[in-house]
Amino acid sequence: MTIKSYIDNVKDEVYKCVHCGFCLTACPTYLVSGQELESPRGRITLMKATIESEIIPDSNTFAHWDRCIQCRACEPACPSGVNYGLLIEATKTGMNEVRSESFIYRYNLKIILNLLISKWFVNLNALIFRIYNKLKISQLINKVKLNKLLPKKINELEKMIPIINGFPLKSGNYPSDTNNNFKVMLFRGCVMPGIHGDNMRKTIYLLNHLGFDVEVLDNEVCCGSISSHNGDSDMTLKLAKTNIDNFLQNESKYLLISSAGCGTRIKEYNHLFNKNSSYYNKALLLKEKTMDIYEFLYNNLPFKPEGNINLTVSYQPACHLINTQKIIDPPVELLKMIPGIKYVELPSSNICCGAGGAYSITQPEWSKKVLNKKMTEFKSINADILTVSNPGCLIQLQNGIQESSISSDIMYVTDLLYNSYLKGEKNES
Ligand code: SF4
Ligand code: SF4
Repeated sequence: MTIKSYIDNVKDEVYKCVHCGFCLTACPTYLVSGQELESPRGRITLMKATIESEIIPDSNTFAHWDRCIQCRACEPACPSGVNYGLLIEATKTGMNEVRSESFIYRYNLKIILNLLISKWFVNLNALIFRIYNKLKISQLINKVKLNKLLPKKINELEKMIPIINGFPLKSGNYPSDTNNNFKVMLFRGCVMPGIHGDNMRKTIYLLNHLGFDVEVLDNEVCCGSISSHNGDSDMTLKLAKTNIDNFLQNESKYLLISSAGCGTRIKEYNHLFNKNSSYYNKALLLKEKTMDIYEFLYNNLPFKPEGNINLTVSYQPACHLINTQKIIDPPVELLKMIPGIKYVELPSSNICCGAGGAYSITQPEWSKKVLNKKMTEFKSINADILTVSNPGCLIQLQNGIQESSISSDIMYVTDLLYNSYLKGEKNES
């Protein structure tokens, strides 16, 4: 199949675009560049020109599509209801097909994607980064001015090494000490259990404290979002089928997701299958069973948090939580329930932070431009804590906070809830 035929499959979405431009100010890459071809409208114009054979897309065209963070902020901004997610996914799959004509590209991409979705690889890296952080190698490099000798790209990658929070989360049963018999599954994903093991354990202990038994399945696999973002449709399908079968077999009432990108991918598994396929209906069943952690907590909270946290707190929502799952209020409302918290809204919080799955690695310069804008806005509100709802956002914004020498903390909304429920000082009354 050619790239033209991939876009042709979703041409109804292309022709829904009336070029009004309402999406422009929602698009982070347009906001930092001011260039039409770095906007949703510009990218759709290139897709339209491709299916109408006005252009044969080349590496320059690919660059504009590659710079899309796939945050999908253009979707809620669009009055014509263009499903941009379908468009960019089809386009990336077509681009991948063209690129795979180069054996080296195809081979390298497969290896990288397979590594990124392997738990052993993430855990091994987490261990190396943990040792690296413990030995304070980064500070040492700066002290002896080795950073001046290293190539720019290596320096940039070195700065992106994440802080590792605890040992990897293991699969298993985590029962509450109540007899509620309300069991949920918690999806681990690839990056989060290796890098943010302690944060995931806090989420489990919080759920247990609220009376829910938690099971983390051993046979879950990557949700497939890294593969689909990079146009590897075969791998995405394989992962989706495995997860659909394993999660539907489990007797738990819900599958909870604490990573917004994974939640969107799982809730949209039906997009991957033909309506006649048995997996299409199974995917819809799984969608009904799947809930983001904040959606679940907000709707099933048996009692409110009581521990005081006297701090100024803000929140950067994950794009895939607000733009695709439309989960906007629950994390903020949960934060506002915590006694003592002064909640401050982050300006332009609906705009992406530049994390975008593997975007900060594949497009480091653009990711940095988007992050710098976010940091300027965060500085202006003087908050003690910035909360997030997705691991990619946490890693990206932690990096931004360190680079900008801001003294604020960054944590998940669930971390703060855990602190209030399980650690916070109780109110007198
Ligand atoms: S808002 Fe929708 S219709 Fe208008 S230019 Fe953007 S994608 Fe096209
Ligand atoms: S998905 Fe995000 S980065 Fe891509 S065009 Fe839409 S708003 Fe812009």
